[in-house]
Amino acid sequence: MAKAKIAVNGYGTIGKRVADAVRAQDDMEVVGISKRTPNYEAVVAHQLGYDIYAPVAENVEAFEKAGMPAAGSVEEMIEKADLVVDCTPGGVGEKNKPLYEKAGVKAIWQGGESHSIAGFSFNAESDYEQALGRDLVRVVSCNTTGLCRAITPIDRELGVKKVRATITRRAVDPNEIKKGPVNAIVLHPAKIPSHHGPDVQSVLSHINITTAALVVPTTLMHIHTVNMEVNTDCTAEDIKKIFSSQSRIRFVGQGITSTAEIIEVARDMKRPRNDMWELCIWPESITVTDKELYFFQAVHQESIVVPENVDAIRAMMELESDRAKSVEKTNKALGF
Ligand code: NAD
Repeated sequence: MAKAKIAVNGYGTIGKRVADAVRAQDDMEVVGISKRTPNYEAVVAHQLGYDIYAPVAENVEAFEKAGMPAAGSVEEMIEKADLVVDCTPGGVGEKNKPLYEKAGVKAIWQGGESHSIAGFSFNAESDYEQALGRDLVRVVSCNTTGLCRAITPIDRELGVKKVRATITRRAVDPNEIKKGPVNAIVLHPAKIPSHHGPDVQSVLSHINITTAALVVPTTLMHIHTVNMEVNTDCTAEDIKKIFSSQSRIRFVGQGITSTAEIIEVARDMKRPRNDMWELCIWPESITVTDKELYFFQAVHQESIVVPENVDAIRAMMELESDRAKSVEKTNKALGF
């Protein structure tokens, strides 16, 4: 079978990872990536052998001058693709929608766009089957992906009555030098719920969930303090068994009590870019009292959505109808 042709529009934190992840699969290929300027990231993309396309026609010349000729415009890149993964900043993706519609290509957007852009929000464990053959999909944000990965298997096994979660968010990604906070804990926002609860409901509409969020001065990961009420009597051991059956959930222990140590594990494992694709849960935090469950989980914001994008492509292109098989294939190719 011919490989699915994938274009990655927007080559920042998420886009560069999605491009590498698509490249690692044997049923899809990257036909091009887009970069606005010939900066250091473009130089590496060029060295990695990606065909670079410029969103603005005048910039094609700037690439030429920088010694890495652009392969053409973004419109030309889209013409070559079966599916575009839009990884531009939140809000820009919406402006790109007419480009994709004009070319008649399938499109994936990221969590910075609203649910309405595609009318369907995706998390592999939660709704892979409903994405089969779809033309437009939004892969939910890092925090929503983490919550969906934890809620879905518990809901399947025990039934979830309600979820209450507090999200302690990293301030910015490691390469963002112009944003803060540097010395503050910021309510994000001051009102409750934060947008994360409703966003989980864009995937799991029947889940009663409320979230609150705080931003702290760190770049590494987010931490969620989760409280869940379930419909069925269970023990902490039952919960651990459910989580341990999930290939995209990793238990963290052996003295790890911070996000810094989780990233150190990723470094020691020689993961690309220190990425931790799995949702990390502390088994020792799992506590159950009267059908109420508590635990801590950590989300690597830069990478958790990357395997989800690959599975979304596979479902939309109907390369694999079975969720578990797609997840396994993606994980194996990435090197979980
Ligand atoms: P980013 O700023 O790191 O990268 C975006 C890239 O798109 C930049 O290289 C920028 O120059 C480029 N760009 C801007 N306008 C463009 C245009 N018109 N055409 C082509 N390229 C353009 O952003 P990011 O963190 O990768 O976020 C991308 C999306 O992923 C957003 O929707 C965001 O909400 C979502 N997301 C981000 C994270 C995260 O923690 N970084 C996690 C999950 C989801």
